[in-house]
Amino acid sequence: MTSNEGLPCEGGCTCRAVRYRITSRPLFVHCCHCRWCQRETGSAFAINAMIEADRVVLLSGSPEIVNTPSNSGKGQKIIRCPVCRIAVWSNYAGPGDKVRFVRVGTLDEPDRLPPDIHIFTMSKQPWVVLPPGVPAVEEYYDRNKYWPAESLERRKALFA
Ligand SMILES: [Zn+2]
Ligand SMILES: [Zn+2]
Repeated sequence: MTSNEGLPCEGGCTCRAVRYRITSRPLFVHCCHCRWCQRETGSAFAINAMIEADRVVLLSGSPEIVNTPSNSGKGQKIIRCPVCRIAVWSNYAGPGDKVRFVRVGTLDEPDRLPPDIHIFTMSKQPWVVLPPGVPAVEEYYDRNKYWPAESLERRKALFA
């Protein structure tokens, strides 16, 4: 987690109108198996890299913000390409606009950011086999227990 090896790296939507660069390691990478992520992706889970907003540099395009209901009831803003409508990141009500949840699958090389934790495994698709050695929790988790110290420090600085 603490290494910036292979970074910065770039990503974007399918039509390539929206392109972005992330300039450091994310704070933490979630693989979320909740029903909401399953519906929003049309798949078995979403992989979100949490990172400070100023470490996501927009290179091209004018992404649009789509207000979307969320599991918490507080809503989320999904940031989408205005042309092909692919979602590139989200902002959740909790951490607000300071933290972006970048959709790892939109990176040019998504292999670089494997999940640091699997969450909401209680609604995991039964055929998804979780890898050994990666934390997995039935619902959400206490970040103090799982995040590396460096990420906790970065978060503290962000909200100071
Ligand atoms: Zn696009
Ligand atoms: Zn989810």
